[in-house]
Amino acid sequence: MKKEVIVLNCGSSSVKFAIIDADTGEAGLSGIAESLGNDDASISFKLNGQKEQQTLPANASHAEALAAIQNIIASTGVEPIALGHRVVHGGERFKEAALVDDSVLASVEEYASMAPLHNLANLKGITTAQAAYPDLPHVIVFDTSFFQQMPKRAYMYALPKALYEQHGVRKYGFHGTSHKFILDSTAQLLNKPVEQTSIISAHLGNGCSVTAIEKGVAVDTSMGFTPLEGLMMGTRCGDIDPSLPGTLQEKLGKSAAEINSLINKESGLAGISGLSNDCRTLEEAAEAGHEGALLALEMFCYRLAKYISSYMIAVPSLDAVVFTGGIGENSSYIRATTMGYFSHLGFTIDEQNNQAMRFGAKGNIASSSSTKPVLIVPTNEEWVIAAEAAKFA
Ligand code: AMP
Repeated sequence: MKKEVIVLNCGSSSVKFAIIDADTGEAGLSGIAESLGNDDASISFKLNGQKEQQTLPANASHAEALAAIQNIIASTGVEPIALGHRVVHGGERFKEAALVDDSVLASVEEYASMAPLHNLANLKGITTAQAAYPDLPHVIVFDTSFFQQMPKRAYMYALPKALYEQHGVRKYGFHGTSHKFILDSTAQLLNKPVEQTSIISAHLGNGCSVTAIEKGVAVDTSMGFTPLEGLMMGTRCGDIDPSLPGTLQEKLGKSAAEINSLINKESGLAGISGLSNDCRTLEEAAEAGHEGALLALEMFCYRLAKYISSYMIAVPSLDAVVFTGGIGENSSYIRATTMGYFSHLGFTIDEQNNQAMRFGAKGNIASSSSTKPVLIVPTNEEWVIAAEAAKFA
């Protein structure tokens, strides 16, 4: 019997949904309800390869979207065995996936103080879905769990220690489900046990993070207390001088919330290029001579290369550098430019293989003389969530 799992990811104005075969990772159904709370709320989905679109009532709520999603799922005839929910912040309590109960939900709410936009929307999705599917196990997979074995020297900030003890101020890390999937997939590709596999995993999508994994354990990661720290991203600034937000508040006469929005939503590739947060648009514009686009891409690669190189300290048994996410899986330009910084360390790229590796392809783009492989491994976070949820069915 197929082990099919409903995977839900509720954002503040969207619900991503899928039916995933927990054994193969195949998605029979996948879709998204968007613009919830707005007058153009709609659902688009792909069922057995066929694309479909439905409008939702104006200002549709999460509950209305989930009711429509439930109808779509019912129309497939699939009998799901469990629901897997993505939750962004699991604090220090959740070192692995958790079956939903009152105490788990209370913790998700408690950790919302550290990820207010995400955890509260996630919570709303879970409780609505519980009402829709009361007889199935609901399982949460946290973005932060994979990083819970990081050593203290990696996750502490050099701030007064009481801030950690009293307020949980530390590096948590995000994109954990993706980095875990990349670890497992790479181990398979290299034909090694996961516990013996050591990689630097670069997840480059709209959000970007790098994780250092030594012998199957995440030992450092670029995102921090929130997903803002680390790499330059589509609209997030990544690392900046920590005194800047305060200075900008004074200089621009803006509130803390306004500066927070500026560094999360108006910065990164979009902020530097003045054009777009989309890597494809920037690559085309850079080729046509757009200076902002060129600078944005140069900064993105240089900063990424610095993170990858610093993690070579954290991963002495390095087997491979691995790229994933929309940019990592598809942009030969970003990969070649980033790895170009490593030529004096013995990494070399086979440009023909690099150009060919896109649209879900998996393999090595390093040339045969390279010190280590440089791998492209497409991520599949939904599969990790489905597989974890299926364990509770
Ligand atoms: P994700 O969040 O993983 O869906 O990744 C989104 C990012 O991937 C966007 O910045 C896209 O521009 C980028 N992306 C997707 N396809 C390509 C491509 N063929 N070349 C360059 N970037 C791409």
